[in-house]
Amino acid sequence: MASEVVTPMGRDDMESITANDILRRANRIAAVGRLASGVAHEIRNPLVAIQWNLNLLASKHPEDAETYQLISAELMRIDTTVSQLLSLTKPQVLKFEPIDLQNLLDSIIRLMNAQAYQVNVDIQLVGQSPQSVEGDEKLLTQVFVNLILNALEAMQNGGTLTIALEPEGKEHVAVRFSDTGVGMTEEQLSRLGEPFFTTKSEGTGLGLMICRQIVEEHHGTMEIKSQVGEGTTVSIKLRTSS
Ligand code: ADP
Ligand code: MG
Repeated sequence: MASEVVTPMGRDDMESITANDILRRANRIAAVGRLASGVAHEIRNPLVAIQWNLNLLASKHPEDAETYQLISAELMRIDTTVSQLLSLTKPQVLKFEPIDLQNLLDSIIRLMNAQAYQVNVDIQLVGQSPQSVEGDEKLLTQVFVNLILNALEAMQNGGTLTIALEPEGKEHVAVRFSDTGVGMTEEQLSRLGEPFFTTKSEGTGLGLMICRQIVEEHHGTMEIKSQVGEGTTVSIKLRTSS
């Protein structure tokens, strides 16, 4: 049901569509969003109880530790997917304030350096943005962390992640995340908008959708370029605060 609703409208539909159709469609999407969010909550509560009881069992049966760990890892995976689904469907109340991107990125990089070090990735912050941007710090942090994680996951044999800050005229600032990772094929690139599209065994395929949604709520843009074997660049443009 969900896939029918989120499929982009084809050209033929566009020609005959009326304001009423658009309204009906928007209502249907909103209803599906509410349903998804309800389902996500319903899944989340029993998960906590299951995990708690599993821990209890695990402590009684140390000989089966490996099996318990496996179940626990799968539970965590459900939890991650559900949390991400919730953050997509939940109407966010954005708290806009002027944000110094250099400061914010600096502190995020410091937090993620240990993880980068493990896969031999060097994270560099280059360029400058003299003007702050208008944004919600928590949500922008979520975007940047998601993009850095994707870059690290694409560079499991080491590499460099360059995060470049650059003013674009007076009204925008660009942040570019360029990695030297595995890159993406044309086919992969074209499937990025699909929810749950992932090439990772542990992936949810929701990270980029969340990023896109947050950036759009900031009236910004997100663009992805990639070349297999060369790397990927994700460019985000945000409005400066006046
Ligand atoms: P997930 O990371 O859970 O798979 P995402 O929405 O973050 O979900 O990414 C979807 C897919 O896009 C990934 O599985 C991967 O195939 C591809 N991808 C995203 N970022 C990169 C990147 N920096 N380099 C290569 N592939 C990427
Ligand atoms: Mg991801």
